Amino acid sequence: MDRHFTDLVRTKFQLIEGMMAQEEAAAAVELTCAPLKVVGDEGDQMAVSQVKEWLFKLKSRNTSFRKKIHRALQKIEDGSYGVCEECEQKITQARLVARPTALLCIQCKESEELFECQSDKRKELRIVSDHKMGKLLQFPQLNMEA
Ligand SMILES: [Zn+2]
Repeated sequence: MDRHFTDLVRTKFQLIEGMMAQEEAAAAVELTCAPLKVVGDEGDQMAVSQVKEWLFKLKSRNTSFRKKIHRALQKIEDGSYGVCEECEQKITQARLVARPTALLCIQCKESEELFECQSDKRKELRIVSDHKMGKLLQFPQLNMEA
């Protein structure tokens, strides 16, 4: 990956980190102000809990994004940035522009998503069969009572 491009990526990460910090600061101000608006009305109480929930989601999203940025920066340092972790082929620059934290090339990402989708379906099937099993197990008890 050429130096000019990784410098751009670094700059982009700095901007994103700045934006995240601003967002969190704005959310913290909202959270401080929210209780001041509360006059005991149920709707206002809702507003406070919604702000708390929003702040919580914001922070956990930003934390996971910061980890991704950190990992990408490490890769820039060790020279492995832009190399797919799965097939070790180069990730296209177009993909890295769109997703500078990408660890996989588009082909590997798509097959990973396909696999995740399939295992979600398997999970659903397991829940259904567990549910059926539960029903089956209840029958003998009913028979005992009868
Ligand atoms: Zn790949």
